[in-house]
Amino acid sequence: MELTVYFFFNLSLLIVLLLLGVLWAGKSKESLSYRAIFIIYLVISLILCFIFTYQIEGINVVFDLRKVPFIIGGLYMGLGPFLAVFIMIVRGFLGIDYGFWMTFLYYGVLAILFWGISPWFLKRSPMQRILFSICVAFLFSFSQTFTMGIWHLPHSSTEVWFAYLVIQPIGVGIISYIIEEIIMTVKLHRRTMKSKRLEAVEQMGAAISHEIRNPLTAAIGFVQLLSNEAISNENHTRYLSIIKSELKSAERVIQDYLNFSNPEFKSVEPLLLKEELEQVVQMLQPLAKRNSVKIVSIFSMGEEIEGDKQKFHQCFVNIMKNAIEAMPKGGILTVEIESTPTTVSILVKDTGSGMTLEQVSRLGEPYYSTKGSKGTGLGIMVVYSIVRAMNGTIHVESNLGKGTTFEFTFPSLSSTLLEAVDDKDTEKELVMNR
Ligand code: ADP
Ligand code: MG
Repeated sequence: MELTVYFFFNLSLLIVLLLLGVLWAGKSKESLSYRAIFIIYLVISLILCFIFTYQIEGINVVFDLRKVPFIIGGLYMGLGPFLAVFIMIVRGFLGIDYGFWMTFLYYGVLAILFWGISPWFLKRSPMQRILFSICVAFLFSFSQTFTMGIWHLPHSSTEVWFAYLVIQPIGVGIISYIIEEIIMTVKLHRRTMKSKRLEAVEQMGAAISHEIRNPLTAAIGFVQLLSNEAISNENHTRYLSIIKSELKSAERVIQDYLNFSNPEFKSVEPLLLKEELEQVVQMLQPLAKRNSVKIVSIFSMGEEIEGDKQKFHQCFVNIMKNAIEAMPKGGILTVEIESTPTTVSILVKDTGSGMTLEQVSRLGEPYYSTKGSKGTGLGIMVVYSIVRAMNGTIHVESNLGKGTTFEFTFPSLSSTLLEAVDDKDTEKELVMNR
């Protein structure tokens, strides 16, 4: 029974290792490809197989599972020659004996064979690939049991037959089944990502054409009026200014779209938050006055983050503009900076209309607006894409009828420099207190 237990234990190790590899690949965010991780998996598996080699005392025959990673790597990745050389070198350390030359012969021939049939193999269906791998393992084991002359062993030959003809093919079958599942999941994931992207582009296309058509139609109407010669000078100037403002709003929509589709920063520089936010507040004072909104700034000194100045301005103009627009009858807009040793938070609070849970959850969707023809529904979407590009996170709290707080958290410049902060995806946390 000892050999059987040994083999099953070794096989479970190979399976656990494969699952760990899958977890690692899922976490590595494309920095290490599946292929590289799989090669590392194969090499570690082979080393494990050699560590758990089973040797019968007094006889120069070793039993192990090394053909399992060899068959898998050879067929699925065409790595036969590489793995065979690796196996020969390690087997060489155990002694240049009959077993070594058998290894040399078997693995040498199969390596070349696998290398040749791997492209054909990969074109088969998943089921065919699994069955084919099992058959290859079975035939390989079967022929090995002859050359090893197991009937001469003092050991129970039934156990060796079982270990070679059943456990090894089953091992190859289980591992190729898991690999097929992984391939399917990765393909499905890629397909969903692609269709999501296409969906976003379609939505954006619809939003953009709608948003641009309105101001353009208005502008065309006034251009037609202008071509009327009997028009007074006063009207002439008025129409021109309307045309200008309509064209400007069309341009703004295009700019928003560009910011969304290309949030890559042209110039990344240290941004002194107090200075940048003061400029944004200054820019929005006229709008705030019109809505009788008082802006309160609570800025401490010296916090810095890294980003593109223009995009940063754009982001906070969009957020504060929404906040002011949410207080048509006046209110208080508070802009505050808070910091920890590794992060900096910017809080934008308003005492405006607030949002329902459903409205909060729709923030960031293209074309989502409650402002009718006055809104584009692109502002928050641009904010999310800029904050994501700056490795920041957004947290929204809203009370219907009482107000809304947007909290932005970015890695502080000192922590970015120390590379102490891992890349974080922007996450939209939705918290609602009723
Ligand atoms: P727009 O301002 O053109 O409508 P945005 O993307 O900027 O588009 O905002 C989307 C929607 O989110 C707004 O229409 C509004 O309903 C809601 N919203 C955003 N910020 C606030 C806020 N501070 N208070 C209340 N509602 C808000
Ligand atoms: Mg807006």
